[in-house]
Amino acid sequence: MRLTILGSGTNTHPTRAASGYLLYTSQLLLLDFGPRTLMNLMRIGVDRHSITHILFSHYHADHFADFIPFFFDAVFFSNHLGTRPDLTLIGPHGTKKLFRTLIQTLPGFDKARFAVRFKEVSDRSFMIGHTKISPRTVVHSPSLHSVGYRIEYGNKVLAYSGDAQYCKNLIRLCEDANLALLDCSFPANKPGRGHLHAGECGLVAKEASADCLVLSHFYPIADRYNVREQAGERFDGRIVAGKDLMTIKL
Ligand SMILES: [Zn+2]
Ligand SMILES: [Zn+2]
Repeated sequence: MRLTILGSGTNTHPTRAASGYLLYTSQLLLLDFGPRTLMNLMRIGVDRHSITHILFSHYHADHFADFIPFFFDAVFFSNHLGTRPDLTLIGPHGTKKLFRTLIQTLPGFDKARFAVRFKEVSDRSFMIGHTKISPRTVVHSPSLHSVGYRIEYGNKVLAYSGDAQYCKNLIRLCEDANLALLDCSFPANKPGRGHLHAGECGLVAKEASADCLVLSHFYPIADRYNVREQAGERFDGRIVAGKDLMTIKL
């Protein structure tokens, strides 16, 4: 399994794209699709028309907005330039309503020459080819269903928090994971609501007995402090401060 970080920042971060991750198993999976991650996907030379599954953690714009130019372009491509495989959009409660509304409302979006499928997840595992996906509800925003994803392929496990504050389900999501990819929005000394801070990221990795902790989803203020060191006060394993276009092999 291989992870490429397409975006390690948030909506209006001046130097980092917002949330987006590319995961290589026997499938090519996209985890979240925030602003500026489509540009990074193109930079690394991945054929965007080969993407068949996108998994969304929740629908705050910093995890979702680049779906719009991506899909607009996919529809154009399928009508004028070539064929693309069907697309499955996976996410928490509200997934079907959101995408059906977008496809019915935005000009040209209903003209795709490929099938679009929707899957709303509960805390129940499912397979994409040989890759096992286990979504788990996490605590983030009171008005929103938000999930993290535990992804297993071969004998490796990657856990992605999406946006989450410290909660029991987050520990279960990351239990014995080879890699825990966590929302590190804030430094430990400047925490914010609904998200982990760097110290809590270390605590989650420690309590879950993860091998490697990857910090990501940085607000600009997180870049003013040594979040890696802050996480290391609680966690003895390997800690990586995420960067756009960084690739990590599991
Ligand atoms: Zn959010
Ligand atoms: Zn976010």
